[in-house]
This record gives sequence, structure tokens and C-alpha cells, in this order.
Amino acid sequence: MRARVVVTMNGPPIENGAVAIEGNRVVDVGLFDEVKARNSGEVVDLGEQALLPGLINAHCHLDYTCLRGKIPPPKSFADWIRAINAEKAKLSQRDFLASINQGFAEARRFGTTTIGNLTAFPELVAKINEPIRTWWFAELIDVREPKHAKDVVDLSVESLKSKEPWGLAPHAPFTASADLYRHCEAIARAKNILLTTHLAESREEMSMFRDGSGPLYEFMKRIGRLMDDCGHETPLALFVGRRALPGRWIVAHLNELAESDFDLLAKSEGKFDVVHSPRSHGYFAHSRFPFERLRALGLNICLGTDSLASNEDLSLFAEMRAFQKNEPRTSPEAILSMVTVNPARALRQKDALGEIRLGSRADFISLPCASSTRVFEEIIAFDQPVEWTMLDGKIR
Ligand SMILES: [Zn+2]
Repeated sequence: MRARVVVTMNGPPIENGAVAIEGNRVVDVGLFDEVKARNSGEVVDLGEQALLPGLINAHCHLDYTCLRGKIPPPKSFADWIRAINAEKAKLSQRDFLASINQGFAEARRFGTTTIGNLTAFPELVAKINEPIRTWWFAELIDVREPKHAKDVVDLSVESLKSKEPWGLAPHAPFTASADLYRHCEAIARAKNILLTTHLAESREEMSMFRDGSGPLYEFMKRIGRLMDDCGHETPLALFVGRRALPGRWIVAHLNELAESDFDLLAKSEGKFDVVHSPRSHGYFAHSRFPFERLRALGLNICLGTDSLASNEDLSLFAEMRAFQKNEPRTSPEAILSMVTVNPARALRQKDALGEIRLGSRADFISLPCASSTRVFEEIIAFDQPVEWTMLDGKIR
């Protein structure tokens, strides 16, 4: 494939560049004339386009694609949980299945070729034919049955087994018990899978755990949660203090951190990966995401869309633009890394995904490109459906 510019994400963009593939792998990348001389086979000329790695959405819930526009921004986080529960109660398994499939189609249209997707319905997963690479995470909640944490985990592992790759997602410390988190880590150790969770998302989660008060505290208490872990520590301190496998976690949010949390992160040995969802963050009006401080601590930060119950579409381009608005000093190249290189690292796919390099998977997208000097800016500004995608060596 020849393109006006090839954006490898592991070196400067290559003007008049080309990529050669064999099957689903990259076998050569460089200047067009040189790649052509070294390789035989058909040449696909993409013309005045930028060829780049397919985008990776590190945190999403396709279950709730059908809830787009249904829940207005809430006054309190506890109110939002009530509202989404009310919406979910109106839906059947068939509705959720349709919602997941609709979400996949939309993500693909926006140039996403890999997705980390949490599902509350692992029993539906066998019925789905994913059109893009998917890490399925079973989202687990045991707040109403904390004595059965192991059963909750084992049941979802049984449902997900037919899919590869899969992982586990205890929902959040306020809905998943310490036992549930422990069982997930035991399975991660035995089966070599990834784990993900929501942490330190809202001010109300902070006041629930640290102060033992606030709307989320009251709400969880009313539904019968044991509240003995509240009134002591921040959500982050609680999470870090109990982790046996910190390096295996992809943690969504980290919006609400105390000064002591930054000290704790600086001292922690195993570092987890972080996903930030700029537009969902704006919808909830959380405290400012501490991007620079987390990056300076060496955390690998990715972007995700989260679900359409708190976002308007599944475009990672729009997510990059929202991030850029909040962090105008971050280079466009670094922002693009947050939907390519960084999530590939978080999914333990550094050599396979998120870059165009020898041996990597042939997952690419191609976008119109009018200038080879402002290519990263042009990519971030792109706001149309992606017309050309290659996934696993096949043009889709
Ligand atoms: Zn989420």
C-alpha cells in the first residue's frame, strides 16, 4: 500500500511511504520506492491519504449504545446510577444484543479496529460475531449478594470462555466486594488474563470511602451494601492496598485523587494503566483529570469513549478533540498515541497493535491528508466516517 504519508507511530511520518503485508502481518515499511523494490505483488495506491494504525478504544460499554441521549447530565452521580438502572429495566436481552451490535458497527465506522469492551451480559457474548478485535471483559457486581462473589465470577468465566481474548471487570469498589476483586485476581493469575475496573470516578465516591457520607454513601447503604470499608481511606488507597497483581489492571477514570493518592502512586511498584474518557468526564462535570501529574508519575494513559449513557457517539477522533481542548499543550502526536500505542501497551499488544512496524498486525485506517507537515493535527481534526479500513490484512 502506498500513501501520501505513512504514520507509523514509532518514528517520523514517512512522506510518499508504503507498507507491505503478507497475510495479516506487516513485512516491510518505508519509502515507497524502496518498499516497492524490495517486495513483489499488487500495489494499492491510496493517493492523497494518511495511512495509520487502526484506533483502539480502551474503555467502552457497547451494552448501552441504545441509551444515547436518554439520560440528561445528572445533579449527582447516585442519581445517574438510579437513572441508568431505570433505563436498563425497560430493556430485554434482545435489546441489549441489538445495542452491542449497533455499537460495534458505529465504532468501526469511526476507525476503531480494537476495543476493550465491558459487558454486563457475558451470557450474550457467544451470540455475537465481532467485526473488530475485541477484548471482552465481564463486568461484575455483587453488591446485593456479597457472600456469592466466587459464584458471580465463575459463572461469567464459563460464559466468556468461548471468546479469546477475555478478561474480568469488577465494576467499582462501591458495587464489587473485596472478595470479588480477590477472586478476579486469582483467575487472572491462573489464566493470564487482564483485569479492568472503575476507580475514583466521582466526588461522591471519594466522600463515600474517605468520609463515610454523601449521596452515593446514602444510596449504597439503602440498598443493603455493607459500609464497613467507608469512612477510612480514599478509593485509590483502598484499591492499591488490596492489590496482589497491580500490573495487570487497566483502571478507568482516576478523576478524584487526594494529595496522599499521588504520594501513594509515586511509591507503588507495579503500575496499572489508566483510561480517561474526556467527553463522559465533561458530561458528569468531574474534577479536572490530573493528566500531567499522572503522566509524570509514569502511568500509561489511554483514551476511551465509555458508554453512550454518558457520551454522544463512539468516535475516538471526537474524544481526541475533547482531550485537546482540555490539554492544549499536549502535542497532537502524543494525543494520537493515547488511542494507538498506549492502549496497545495496556492490552499487552505492544508488538502487535497500535503501530506500523515489522511483524505488527495489518490493522490500518486511511484518511484524507492535505499536508504532510501537519499530519497529526489533520488526523485529530478528522470528523467524517472512515472510508477505508484494513483489519487483519483484509480491506473492509
Ligand atoms: Zn465505564
